[in-house]
Amino acid sequence: MAHLLIVEDDELLLDGLSAQLMQAGHRITTAQDGQIALDRLQAGAFDGVVLDLGLPRVDGLTVLRSLRQRLPALPVLVLTARDGVEDRVAGLNAGADDYLTKPFNLDELQARLQALLRRASLPAFGASAAPAATPAPSALRLEPHPPRAWLGGEAIDLTQREWTLLDLLLRHAGQVVSREDVFAAWQAEPGESGGLASNALEVYVHRLRRKFAGSALNIRNIRGLGYLLETGGA
Ligand code: CA
Repeated sequence: MAHLLIVEDDELLLDGLSAQLMQAGHRITTAQDGQIALDRLQAGAFDGVVLDLGLPRVDGLTVLRSLRQRLPALPVLVLTARDGVEDRVAGLNAGADDYLTKPFNLDELQARLQALLRRASLPAFGASAAPAATPAPSALRLEPHPPRAWLGGEAIDLTQREWTLLDLLLRHAGQVVSREDVFAAWQAEPGESGGLASNALEVYVHRLRRKFAGSALNIRNIRGLGYLLETGGA
C-alpha cells in the first residue's frame, strides 16, 4: 500500500483514478488545483504523485518544479493532454519520472505507477540513494610503460615528454609548476635526446590540452610563473 497524491482538476477523471487506485489498495489524497497540491505536499508525506499538468491557480509544471526541490526522489507520473509534446518534454525536464497522454487506460496508469513505486523502493533508486557516482577528478592515473593516462576508464596514449609533463603537474596538482622544473624533469628522462626548443613547454601544454579536451582537466597558464593543473574537483 502506498499513500498517493492525485492532482487533477477534471472531477470525473479524478474520481475514476481515485476509485481505481483505492481498489488497488492504495491510500488516496486528492487535489483539484495546483495550490491545493502544494499545500498537501507541504502537509503530508506521499509515496507517489499523479500530476495533471493543466491545472487552475498553479500549473502542474510549477508544482512539479517546486516539489522536486524538496523531494528529489518522490515518484511522479505526469498526465498530459493529447499531442502535448512540449508538455511531455517540459514535464520530463522538470523531473517527471514517467508520463501518460490523455485519454489513457486506467489499467495502464496503474501498471506504470506500480513500476515507479517499485523502482523507488529499491535502494538504488530510493530516497536515501546517493547521486550516481561521478568519476572523481583524481581518477586521472598515469601509467609509465607505455606512457599513458587513464581518465574515467578511458586510456589516452602519451608521448614520453607529455607523460613527464603531466606527471609533474599531477604530483603538484593545484600548485604552480615552473618552466625550469618542467625542463629539468624532461632532461632527467633517460631517453631524452636533448634539443628542447624554448617554446617546447607551450607546445606540449597545447598537445595535452587537446588530448584532454572535454574533460574536467585543465592546464592553466599562470603568467610569468608556470603552469597549474586543475582537476575540476570541488
Ligand atoms: Ca487539467
